[in-house]
Amino acid sequence: VELPIHEAVLGHAAGFGDTPALIDGTDGTTLTYAQVDRFHRRLAAALAETGVRKGDVLALHSPNTIAFPLAFYAATRAGASVTTVHPLATPEEFAKQLRDSAARWIVTVSPLLGTAREAARLAGGVREILVCDSAEGHRSLTAMLASTAPEPDVVIDPVEDVAVLPYSSGTTGTPKGVMLTHRQIGTNLAQLEPAVTIGPGDRILAVLPFFHIYGLTALMNAPLRRGATVVVLPRFELDTFLAAVQNHCIGILYAAPPIVLALAKHPAVDRYDLSSLKYVLSAAAPLDAQLAAACSRRLGLPPVGQAYGMTELSPGTHVVPPTALHEAPPGTVGKLIAGTEMRIVALDDPAHDLGPGEAGEILVRGPQVMKGYLGRPEETAALIDADGWLHTGDVGRVDEDGWLFVVDRVKELIKYKGYQVAPAELEALLLTHPDIADAAVVGARDADGNEIPHAHVVRGPAAAGLSEEAVMRYVAERAAPYKRVRRVTFTDAVPRAASGKILRRQLRDRT
Ligand code: ATP
Ligand code: MG
Repeated sequence: VELPIHEAVLGHAAGFGDTPALIDGTDGTTLTYAQVDRFHRRLAAALAETGVRKGDVLALHSPNTIAFPLAFYAATRAGASVTTVHPLATPEEFAKQLRDSAARWIVTVSPLLGTAREAARLAGGVREILVCDSAEGHRSLTAMLASTAPEPDVVIDPVEDVAVLPYSSGTTGTPKGVMLTHRQIGTNLAQLEPAVTIGPGDRILAVLPFFHIYGLTALMNAPLRRGATVVVLPRFELDTFLAAVQNHCIGILYAAPPIVLALAKHPAVDRYDLSSLKYVLSAAAPLDAQLAAACSRRLGLPPVGQAYGMTELSPGTHVVPPTALHEAPPGTVGKLIAGTEMRIVALDDPAHDLGPGEAGEILVRGPQVMKGYLGRPEETAALIDADGWLHTGDVGRVDEDGWLFVVDRVKELIKYKGYQVAPAELEALLLTHPDIADAAVVGARDADGNEIPHAHVVRGPAAAGLSEEAVMRYVAERAAPYKRVRRVTFTDAVPRAASGKILRRQLRDRT
């Protein structure tokens, strides 16, 4: 795939003509494919006229809107690399990303303008802040659509040029700028394509954020490349989300574990007609097989499928194709996609390859492996070895038929008296308790300094009487003795990143 990303995705857009490409899920505003094609080209011209040059970094700071993809593809067409920014970032966090990425342009939305201005002031080096909608004193993309400037004459090298510079979620450390070239993103789209059975007439609900690589790929690039219609929601709010599935007749739902959890357990689900759903796919964080089964049972769907990846992998390496949902063993994240290699190696010796059924670190190699972390050669070298193998930091095992199971992150494993306990496994077990609405497990220290599993538990709506002892007993009756939960704290909510990952560091800081 030697095309720039805007060509790889929108190359056929004009041909889809009046098919709706993007629908604003809050007010119904619709953009057809013909409009997306025209508008992003005009915006690219206007950006070039404004001064955006090849190699510039443009920070896209916006919740999901129908303008987000326009701004994104316009920027890459003008030759810029887009660094996507969390819409809830503080000015300090945003400034850090601006400085680290040396961004010269910001595209934001009027409600976030104050944050963007403050971030630009703190960071320095930003030439101009553009606003998608409109705001006094700033150029707006809406007005720029009227531009009659000629299309920019930039030559993009898909192999070398960075299309997207997302920052990793920062779950395990500081977020790092991940350089993904046009070819890496485009190749991974093509690799995942056989598993994406969507086309014109299909409606995709973009409820996961576009700024994260999962949303950017599954909810923006992939459906727009296939002529499907993307219904855009700015955030995950349960009732709005369920209403959107119902009213827009969503067939395929790309989700993350918290959404699967809500679909499986939340009473509100019964108030909506979700019969349009054909299947649900979850990625980005561990999803327990029982929870997945509860979701599909309740909604009368085939088993929930999964995919696996990370920002540094553009982002995917494994997926359960929709045609294999019934044959896939429960809990699997899928099979290796074409053109990608994998090894499972011993945690204490990466030179020692493990066989089927044995759990070790997942290593992958393929054309979707990132170019590197921006400005962090040592960290890049620590992740990708001299032979091109990326050490994912995730523990997994593969069965005889090639299905991968992700156990947890190497860094999150709790070492209880020499045994390794995976928090994800205990969280899954806790969620099977009818009175537990949500749960997260982290390592804590007991009085003797030993590491022990500590559960943070959210009680269900009618479960005020649920005691700490009852929670510990529930686990003790179902798990090996070394896996017992040895401390319980009740809490109102489990802190999660936008991608659905549990922010275990925040929980550890609380204790
Ligand atoms: P950081 O690298 O900054 O600490 P992060 O690793 O959370 O953040 P992402 O790139 O968004 O940032 O997430 C990739 C990680 O998500 C994987 O390494 C893996 O731990 C987890 N993950 C992704 N898909 C799955 C899945 N299907 N099941 C279990 N875990 C998954
Ligand atoms: Mg990571």
